[in-house]
Amino acid sequence: MKMKEETFQAVWQAIGSESLQQPLWLKNSLQHYEWGTTDVLPWLLGIANPEQQPQAEVWVGAHPKAPSEVIFPEGSVMLDKLIDSQPHAVLGAHSITRFGPKLPFLFKILSARKALSIQVHPDLAQAQAGFAHEEAVGIPITAPERNYPDANHKPELLYALTPFYGLIGFRPIDEIVRLLTLAGEQQLLQWAEHLQKGRESALVPFYRWLLLLSHKEVTHLLSAISPSLQFNPEPTFTEIQRLAHEYPADSGVLAPLVLNLVSLVPGEAIFIPARTPHAYLRGTGIEVMACSDNVLRAGLTPKHISPGELLNTVIFQSMQPEIIRPAVVGMEQRFSVPVDDFELSIVRLQQGDHFPAGMSADAELLYCLKGEVSLTNELGESWLLAPATSVLLPAASTGWQLSGYGKIARVRIRPSLMH
Ligand SMILES: [Zn+2]
Repeated sequence: MKMKEETFQAVWQAIGSESLQQPLWLKNSLQHYEWGTTDVLPWLLGIANPEQQPQAEVWVGAHPKAPSEVIFPEGSVMLDKLIDSQPHAVLGAHSITRFGPKLPFLFKILSARKALSIQVHPDLAQAQAGFAHEEAVGIPITAPERNYPDANHKPELLYALTPFYGLIGFRPIDEIVRLLTLAGEQQLLQWAEHLQKGRESALVPFYRWLLLLSHKEVTHLLSAISPSLQFNPEPTFTEIQRLAHEYPADSGVLAPLVLNLVSLVPGEAIFIPARTPHAYLRGTGIEVMACSDNVLRAGLTPKHISPGELLNTVIFQSMQPEIIRPAVVGMEQRFSVPVDDFELSIVRLQQGDHFPAGMSADAELLYCLKGEVSLTNELGESWLLAPATSVLLPAASTGWQLSGYGKIARVRIRPSLMH
């Protein structure tokens, strides 16, 4: 650890703090989770994948699990270390006062061939309490049974780059009753009756029952409802069959019976509030979240599940997932979310357009999705953003302009918070 500190100081001395007037070029790390596609990210990033490894996520940000590397001509440093060393110059005083000396958001490009685990994220108060508790009882931060590796909430937004499918939040009770009745198995019919009588209060025991089904019980249930799954054109049943193929006998296979099935077309985005069960099923998209890795899993995973912690966290309430309507301001589409940790916007430039960036005294992340975009500073110095390149404009730098043609994803803290 000491060694690393000295290395950072030595490299940083050679780089010099005047470099924080310039864009910070990021080299981002890839996560090879086994649910990843093998071809989409290599195509987007322009890299080869001769061994056909799954390429699941690119992480752009300063999360300690996989921070981006900042590349300077004199050498490179990790973004989290750079922020620790120069918080005011990179983040700005305002962001530090509101969120502490950390980059508040994390940006990912995610590409799923099959479903990710069903998960729930805590709200801020729960994350703080859960983290403090696990620290106090001494569960190592990397232990598989660790639920809270950090003390932050993890609201997230998903912006579809390809058709994207997911499960988000509980369905209306009548909808669950209809699906259980259609499935037709004896226990499911009984639950349908309970739900009809108890409404949302019956969701708790029903979800607990579903969550705790053994592999044997899931297999038995699936074979009992197999005629409905095969012959009823209900899209929920098609999804269950697909999940049964991806995660045989996992209790999460039956989750589409209770969770809303959502599909996005490219360019649409959805927000996932805290304490809401969700699973991304397949597709490629941008995911922006508060900088956290706090995940409670609820199925479709071989990983650790804490049913007790999970049931305490979930809000048992039906909800209607809403596609976010972006506010269009000139060439920018802004996807506002009900938290202030981040706002994603998509900037579309055509030849001759000029777009002001980095106007506030906060850090701003730019990720080029398409085209060739020039980034110019007040002195007229220019850099080129090609597809899959990303920069962080430090708070200490202002007066940037984008021009050229292309599509840029831009993330910053919610602008209404700015002075
Ligand atoms: Zn999530």
